[in-house]
Amino acid sequence: MSIELPALPYARDALEPYISKETLDYHYGRHHQGYVTKLNKLLPGSEHEGQDLETIVKTSEGGLFNNAAQIWNHSFYWNCLSANAGSKPEHALAEAIDQSFNSFTEFKQQFTDTALSTFGSGWAWLVKQPDGRLAVTSTGNADSPLQSENLPLLTCDVWEHAYYIDYRNARAQYLDAFWHLVNWGFVNQRFHG
Ligand code: MN
Repeated sequence: MSIELPALPYARDALEPYISKETLDYHYGRHHQGYVTKLNKLLPGSEHEGQDLETIVKTSEGGLFNNAAQIWNHSFYWNCLSANAGSKPEHALAEAIDQSFNSFTEFKQQFTDTALSTFGSGWAWLVKQPDGRLAVTSTGNADSPLQSENLPLLTCDVWEHAYYIDYRNARAQYLDAFWHLVNWGFVNQRFHG
């Protein structure tokens, strides 16, 4: 049994003009696919063969972990985006954001600052902690909140491959674009999940 690349939840040009089809061709079609291909080369004969992806992320190390976690992180990232721009957190999620960050504006600023200050390759996350409070965190390289007790609700990929085609080195412009694309319906589902 091999790990499969999940289908993108939209067409490759669906996120334009904020994220181009060319970026998705490379980011999904090459990078994400590449992690799947590499993991399926590493799994046969290993103790993780036959496990589901989340279990591999939580229990493996080294190359197996890096590729498995990158598959999971990217699938999650695609689900966090949507072509239906303009939505906002609602109801209990909106209240939790206000309680944890004072306001939606302050949450956005904290998440953006965290994404911009992540050194090198990594991910910015909104997570729900075991005590129910929300927090913004950052992970390096392939690392994922799945390695902690925190429940991931939203992520932004800040590896250069996520934005270099569209924005070159301007990570801040990519973050501006990211906020136009956040799929709050998905974040809401995770929050209540
Ligand atoms: Mn990526």
